[in-house]
Amino acid sequence: MIHPDDSEFSFELRTCRWAERAWPPADDGTDRAIVVARQLGTKRRRWDTIVLECDREAFEQRANFGPKRLDSDLLHVVRNAPAEWAYYRDALPHPGYPWRYVREAIHRADDRGALETRKNGNRIEIRRKWPYPNWVDRIVAIENKPDLDASAARNLGTQLEYDVALALADEVWVASRETGERVEPVLFEDLPVEAGVLALDPETLAADVSWYPRSLAVDEPGTRILERPDGGTRDGSAARFEYVDPAEKAEMRLRIAERAYERGWRSFVDTMRPDCRHFALRGTDGIQLRPYCESKECCQTAAECSGSCPAFEPEPPVWRTRGWPIEGGPGKRSKQLLEDRRRRRRPGL
Ligand code: SF4
Repeated sequence: MIHPDDSEFSFELRTCRWAERAWPPADDGTDRAIVVARQLGTKRRRWDTIVLECDREAFEQRANFGPKRLDSDLLHVVRNAPAEWAYYRDALPHPGYPWRYVREAIHRADDRGALETRKNGNRIEIRRKWPYPNWVDRIVAIENKPDLDASAARNLGTQLEYDVALALADEVWVASRETGERVEPVLFEDLPVEAGVLALDPETLAADVSWYPRSLAVDEPGTRILERPDGGTRDGSAARFEYVDPAEKAEMRLRIAERAYERGWRSFVDTMRPDCRHFALRGTDGIQLRPYCESKECCQTAAECSGSCPAFEPEPPVWRTRGWPIEGGPGKRSKQLLEDRRRRRRPGL
């Protein structure tokens, strides 16, 4: 039996794996480092898969700041920290919020080894350890729709129009399951022409580009669509929108990139129950590990695999006796395995 959510979640993990191995689909010979993450974005819009195209050298320098993301307060400090000792209020631009939050961020950056601090009288002085590198070249958003029929294309069309108008990502794509047939043009009718379409075979991880995307103007002001008329015949209301300036977009992009750097796409296990006796990891192409529920006999979603799952059973204590409590049971080992793979994708850590 095909589990109703199996195909979409599982397809999403396969897209991530494909992107990690094969991005970009049209190789222009540029040597880039790639970071793949999933389920990230802004308050209003979350993308299924994100690919960061990074300058390789700068990407390795990013590792100096540790595997955890830098939030906006930390970014303000490390990006503006001076090369020589200086009083922090002289060195940093006014943050637009009280200085006490900056002091907290300075202490956090110091604790992480990302900044040097010293006291001069009762003044805190700071000095950078490394310049924060400009490591993200491009951000690509991919929506996964394994079964892109006409109705799925219609729903997706609205989301992609939002992405195109805001132009927060450099490119937006739709990945759908390869059917082996010529894609019906009707499927494209409701998708903005700026969005690319990729046909992916989740078994073999072979992909074909059905439609190439246009690069979006990330350095120009974007339009955030707040509300749109529902389109009924009596609906004369206007759409509501606001402009977003390029500086705000750049900040949002960097915050997304930092979260992607920390999380990657294997972090699905963080929101699941690997401590359940039915939880397993299964490899499909000899390399990729996906979650598998031995009770439901499918690749379960994170929403199902939670404390409220009726089939949840804690892994028996006896499973943990070897190496426990230091290594934990199979659940802990699954987490460690995925964490190791995530770290291997971040050179320099
Ligand atoms: S039984 Fe429920 S909690 Fe346990 S692995 Fe399966 S989905 Fe997850």
